[in-house]
Amino acid sequence: MGRAVVIPHQGLDDLISLLKAQGYQVWGARETDGALELGPIAAAADLPRGRIEAAEAGTVRLVDGPRDAVFDHTLPMQGLKRAVYPAQERLYRTGPDLLTEAEPVEAPPTAVLGVRPCDLAALDTLTAVFEGGPFVDTRVRQRREALLLIAVNCMRPAATCFCASMGTGPRAEGGFDLAIDELIEAERHVFVVTAGSARGREILDQLPGEPAGEADLQAARAGSRACAEAQQRRMAGDAEAVLKRSYDHPHWAAVAERCLSCANCTMVCPTCFCGTVEDRSSLDGAEAERWRRWDSCFTLDFSYLHGGAVRNETASRYRQWITHKLAHWHDQFGRSGCVGCGRCIGWCPVGIDITAEVRALAAGDPAAGGLRRTADG
Ligand code: SF4
Ligand code: SF4
Repeated sequence: MGRAVVIPHQGLDDLISLLKAQGYQVWGARETDGALELGPIAAAADLPRGRIEAAEAGTVRLVDGPRDAVFDHTLPMQGLKRAVYPAQERLYRTGPDLLTEAEPVEAPPTAVLGVRPCDLAALDTLTAVFEGGPFVDTRVRQRREALLLIAVNCMRPAATCFCASMGTGPRAEGGFDLAIDELIEAERHVFVVTAGSARGREILDQLPGEPAGEADLQAARAGSRACAEAQQRRMAGDAEAVLKRSYDHPHWAAVAERCLSCANCTMVCPTCFCGTVEDRSSLDGAEAERWRRWDSCFTLDFSYLHGGAVRNETASRYRQWITHKLAHWHDQFGRSGCVGCGRCIGWCPVGIDITAEVRALAAGDPAAGGLRRTADG
């Protein structure tokens, strides 16, 4: 681990000013309409100080927390996916001359303050998806390379978090430029700031603060351990095997009775990467544009082949999502597609819980019948 300094809680504004002076726009979690959204911040006062999520299956709302912490909240609605892979973007346009013009990528240097360890893991996963194969998505890469990542190690979990069981948190062990631990003891309120990259070290060298002592470093680690122990949910360790033997499980029909096929879970998931491409033309046909936008395996059109959709039933769409996420992602990318952020649990309007569904599949008898492979995808 790199050099670490302790700054007073007011020092967060020094950090933000320093980042701006170096040409970064600064993003953080802002309270908007009772929820947290990732976006530009001007000062530390824009962060949701003293606020935490009251999150449960089917509900996420911000409430006053028990202490005056800047980072006791956990996650904004969406992770870093939005920053590297916008929900929709124009790729090309062409005019009456039929010359095709690629849309330039806007990637201003952006410092994201308060990235949680699970979201760092999710960005690493997206990088494997978009940049790990023979065809690199250069639009995603340009945006990712413009990010300066300032992690915050979690000191309290939301009730929907299960990163500890996925090995992705609540402490960031890498993948950041700077990492922050917030320590509050009696009258003392400080941040321990640790460098995790050469860029981070350069910034840390200019930040007014004292070298971190052993007691603060230990307190920071103890806070992360306590956060892991306080997590109420966990993913079954054999989720991949459970999913791979559950293709015909009767539980899919039970999930489908509740699932609305609304696609919320895939929209908030920081690793769901499916997209579609649309061509749009002006009414007179003189101009045309090609757009890319997020898509979801929960929509009917997603599995459309000539003649119709392959996955007509909600049961087969939910099965597709969770089986890809927790099982076949391992075959494709050598890792789970889930980082345990819990967003899909909180933002599902009917409270479907990915950890509970895996438990139900593990407990039931897959031989008892259910969806037929030949009937519906
Ligand atoms: S599947 Fe759910 S818990 Fe896992 S990364 Fe996606 S949103 Fe987070
Ligand atoms: S699991 Fe929940 S969020 Fe996902 S599609 Fe079904 S109802 Fe919507």
